Amino acid sequence: MPVLKILKYPDPILNKKCGEVVEINLEINKLIENMIEAMNKNKGVGLAAPQVGVLKRIIVLESEKGPVAFVNPKIIKKSKKTEIIEEGCLSFSGIFLDISRPREIEAEALTEDGEKIKIKIGGLLARVFQHETDHLDGILFIDHLPFWRRLKIKNKLRNCFRD
Ligand code: ZN
Repeated sequence: MPVLKILKYPDPILNKKCGEVVEINLEINKLIENMIEAMNKNKGVGLAAPQVGVLKRIIVLESEKGPVAFVNPKIIKKSKKTEIIEEGCLSFSGIFLDISRPREIEAEALTEDGEKIKIKIGGLLARVFQHETDHLDGILFIDHLPFWRRLKIKNKLRNCFRD
């Protein structure tokens, strides 16, 4: 099977809200496997299902222990402390932006085996988790920029996509 194609901004699918996964079956496991493959092939550190055109609440991340998948991830607590880290996104080739987000989070999710877990994470993993979970609600990293900077970036991107 060919590697899943990653949708690029401004594809309207990237603005859609995804639905919860009701049952983790073979189809979901296969999708997770294919998402991890697409993330690795594109040298990403995270990928959300809508980026491959599937409107389901699934994300995959690269962790110290290798790739991990989270189904129906939900952030339940965010630290007041924020930090600015440069982020990229596989749906925005070549664009890197300084984004401010909470430094630590607590989240609930299902593993790819359907086990319910609660995690407390910080650092880069928390960063990627937040970025990817945003995708499930149609929120992109540029949406975290202050209004005028966002406008500037959007204009720049619009010019890139004009033939
Ligand atoms: Zn992204």
